[in-house]
Amino acid sequence: MAEATAQGTVTDGSPVDETALDEVVRFTSELIAIDTTNRGGGDCRERPAAEYAAERLAEAGLEPVVLERTKGRSNVVARIAGSDPDAGAGALLVHGHLDVVPAEAAEWSVHPFSGEVRDGVVWGRGAIDMKNMDAMILAVARAWARAGVRPRRDIVIAFTADEEDSAKDGSGFLAGQHPELFEGCTEGISESGAFTFHAEGGRRLYPIAAGERGTAWLKLTAQGRAGHGSKVNRTNAVSRLAAAVSRIGEHDWPVRLTPTVRAALTELAALYGVEADLDASDFDVDALLDHLGRAAALVAPTVRNSSNPTMLSAGYKVNVVPGSATAFVDGRMLPGGEQEFHDTLDRLTGPDVDWEFYHREVPLQAPVDSATFAAMREAVELFDPAGTTVPYCMSGGTDAKQFSQLGIVGYGFSPLKLPEGFDYQALFHGVDERVPVEALHFGARVLDHFMRNTGPEA
Ligand SMILES: [Zn+2]
Repeated sequence: MAEATAQGTVTDGSPVDETALDEVVRFTSELIAIDTTNRGGGDCRERPAAEYAAERLAEAGLEPVVLERTKGRSNVVARIAGSDPDAGAGALLVHGHLDVVPAEAAEWSVHPFSGEVRDGVVWGRGAIDMKNMDAMILAVARAWARAGVRPRRDIVIAFTADEEDSAKDGSGFLAGQHPELFEGCTEGISESGAFTFHAEGGRRLYPIAAGERGTAWLKLTAQGRAGHGSKVNRTNAVSRLAAAVSRIGEHDWPVRLTPTVRAALTELAALYGVEADLDASDFDVDALLDHLGRAAALVAPTVRNSSNPTMLSAGYKVNVVPGSATAFVDGRMLPGGEQEFHDTLDRLTGPDVDWEFYHREVPLQAPVDSATFAAMREAVELFDPAGTTVPYCMSGGTDAKQFSQLGIVGYGFSPLKLPEGFDYQALFHGVDERVPVEALHFGARVLDHFMRNTGPEA
């Protein structure tokens, strides 16, 4: 059993040695230096990063397979055999994407693809999202191989292409065309959870994701009668579209508390000493959020569906009424909120404007009372005893959506202990994305502890 000493050093029989701590930093840096910018529309090449990861796994005695749907868009999958794979917990999928969003070098203090390690910090695009986690997975797998450690459950490692665009060449391809590689996987972990969230008074929270809102990108089309701009026109496509767009943008979506958000609110209210009866008829979520200070930001984006108009297109000359007009809306749906979203859009667009899903991804809901969730909490709180884990729902989406097609329940668990001043959410896709070396060391230790100890209940 693990225990923490007075110095805060944890002795849990960890195979994460000096080599592993060096490797997690070096791998993060070297992966950043392999430019895997995903500009969308197929403009990306993950293969060199995939080969890098596959080589590191092969050196550890694993047998990674590299798979491509499209030339250059490589994915890597490997399996570590568990010591007790038939005991009922199923295999655990541990996945990270290899692509990154674009970075404009002129805006950065350090070249975004240098992977430079300066003053104890690794700089570059992907340092947070998510070459850090890719490096942790590699470092832990190699540490296990050196120490002869085996996990209890089978662990499937997957590095994916194309997460930052459509996932068609990445997790969508793997889940759709190679389900055999994920045989037995019941749960998965990946990005966007277990990072330090600094609340007031020096309080450190670690939000672990147990759900994601769904994506509903919409295309709206209004038809009307084309004609001269000087004539009366009661069927003007531009007016019809503008009215619908305005209704959608200003719509007040009702509060809907999903199980994960309920758990988050309950735990945060207790932590902050705020009385809250979520089932009371006059329960006011906004009043509760007002009492939670900075931590409200963990919950506020996921108590409602949302719909933001983002693009408009119509017309070509000021004195010509066009026959049609189009708009795009970025909509997000809560788990369980899809039907309401659909019905509301029918109503808000009205009879004169058609709408369709331009791109749609399912919402996800994962249990927070599972043994796996408890093991994630235990691992974080072991290495940061003053920290507090809380469940949360992601407002956006990850590869977990694609893997959910295989019945894999997804959690956001990519542990990092960040010092005050490191705003995780701002660094995500941000300028000067970077990660402290200490954060990577913490992450490798926590990930190792969790991955070794998750499994069938004793
Ligand atoms: Zn990501």
